[in-house]
Amino acid sequence: MSNKVSFFNLSIYKILSKEQSFLDQARIRLLYYGFFLIFVALGALYLNVYFQNQKMLADTALFLMGAVVVLFKYLTWRPDWRSAAHALLIVGTLVNTSLVYASMQTVNIITVQVIIIVIVFSYYMLGQQWGLMYSLLNTVPVLVFMIIEYNSGYIISIKPNKVDQSTIIISLFANFILLIFIHSHFYTAFLKNIRHLKNSSREQARLYSKMETAIEKAEKSAQAKSEFLSTMSHEIRTPLNAVIGMSNLLMMSNPRPDQRENIEILKFSANNLLAIVNDVLDFSKIESGKVVFENIRFNLVELMNNICGGQILKAEEKGLLFKLDVDSSLKDKVLFGDPTRITQIIFNLVSNAIKFTPQGNIWVRVTCVEDRHNTVTVNFSVRDTGIGIEKENLETIFEPFTQESLATTREYGGTGLGLAIVKRLLELQELQMTVNSTIGRGSEFSFHMEFPVSTEVLPVAVATAPEAKQISENPLACLRVLIAEDNMVNVMLMKKLMSKWSINPTIAENGERAVEFMQYGNFDIILMDLQMPVMNGFDAAKEIRKMADPKKSSIPIIALTASALFDIKEQVYEAGMNDYVSKPFKPDELLEKLNNYTLNKVG
Ligand code: ADP
Repeated sequence: MSNKVSFFNLSIYKILSKEQSFLDQARIRLLYYGFFLIFVALGALYLNVYFQNQKMLADTALFLMGAVVVLFKYLTWRPDWRSAAHALLIVGTLVNTSLVYASMQTVNIITVQVIIIVIVFSYYMLGQQWGLMYSLLNTVPVLVFMIIEYNSGYIISIKPNKVDQSTIIISLFANFILLIFIHSHFYTAFLKNIRHLKNSSREQARLYSKMETAIEKAEKSAQAKSEFLSTMSHEIRTPLNAVIGMSNLLMMSNPRPDQRENIEILKFSANNLLAIVNDVLDFSKIESGKVVFENIRFNLVELMNNICGGQILKAEEKGLLFKLDVDSSLKDKVLFGDPTRITQIIFNLVSNAIKFTPQGNIWVRVTCVEDRHNTVTVNFSVRDTGIGIEKENLETIFEPFTQESLATTREYGGTGLGLAIVKRLLELQELQMTVNSTIGRGSEFSFHMEFPVSTEVLPVAVATAPEAKQISENPLACLRVLIAEDNMVNVMLMKKLMSKWSINPTIAENGERAVEFMQYGNFDIILMDLQMPVMNGFDAAKEIRKMADPKKSSIPIIALTASALFDIKEQVYEAGMNDYVSKPFKPDELLEKLNNYTLNKVG
């Protein structure tokens, strides 16, 4: 309907468009050709009544011809069929009533025909409500006229025109053609509509089945991908565990300074490789929609201290000034959220800030922007005085495996996954990252996050990884440790590590052996590998938890997992184990867990 056509247009093709429905197109066609038909019929009528000297009828025909020309022009200029139809119906109604009450002063077959056309035309063109309205406007006055005439005779000072047979024939002929024309037009439109609906439903069914097959395929390949990743995760992390573990051991054995340097490089490279493997695994997990956000208590000030603790050292090594500024109003608050994911986000941003800043400062700022009793909105900002990012790259750096330029890759390394992970993690929580950056001057990454606030006033024992305490090694000396592990390199590594703490562990080469050992021996703690032949760690833990002796069934079990970082947690707890350590673990972390779970019991 919005077609803009020239005023001088007379062609129907210019006023039809593909956006109009079949029905609307039929309506425009009907009006367009209908006007022609009516005009010709009125012309014939005019000549007929003119030669019969029926002035009033001739004038009416002439007036109608004029009205038809105006409406035709209007339609071919503005294809507004609705207004044109209303105008035609109003003129038709007026003419019909004036014919009955003034020109003819009778109801004859022409009246009946006109009424039928008005009813059919108004329903098809304008729908039920307007159809009913025009039908009543045309039938009621005619019925009233008939009643008046029947009761007392209709008297008016105008002399009625006598309609002769030839006028009736011309009118009826024109009316018949009009009726047939209206019906055939709309019937064709309805048929087209039905055919179109049938076709589109067939097309829909075809697309639906195509989509189902595609979904099935996608699900299968996603499953294959995740299986592949989980296997790869295990396969890559197991030898990495050995490399990192061995370098830790070497470091603990007082190496010469030149050896120390080599071991440092070895450890650094292995840790780097591990970070890349973890990034890839994590990104795939996020992409496959497997990430579930936790909602646990934590204190943001402590969490930020823990995240930035290690990073401050890194920054200082590079000669950078590191400032951590956390809103003091958050100090006593216990929030609900996912500290692991916040750690991941902030860690990535701060690592980048340090990596891409040759000199100057790094600021990490956490500001409480809104405090509404039960929720707080916090702004996190990581700012640096580093190399900065070009404006046109501000979006692409968030794409997976994308770095700002090849030069970045050459100079700084990296996988280009960090920011992609950060962005996805925020998006999954419906949050957005803002970046401001100037080349050569630095960058700022910031985002808002809302946290529910716990109403309980908790002692500050909150869910943050406590700093590893320096605990004397002696209390563990007589600890009876059972290690369930099938990989010989890992066993050797564990034994060496334990020997540093004067622990002499018992080794079970699979889950079944571990259960047997538990039945016949006495232990203080079990370190349980998860993927083992014969019986895996989960089943072994379940078996041990079922043991009749409460001392044995309640023994602390720490899972040793080489699997991807976060998904294994629930399974470990579900199997009844107390905790887990991700391989390759840091000796301090394992030591701390051993202490935590056994210190009170050993003696
Ligand atoms: P990676 O750090 O592994 O290269 P990221 O996804 O973390 O991958 O970062 C993508 C790219 O964004 C980086 O390669 C770098 O070009 C740019 N970038 C990220 N953070 C900064 C920053 N603080 N300053 C300058 N450039 C940055």
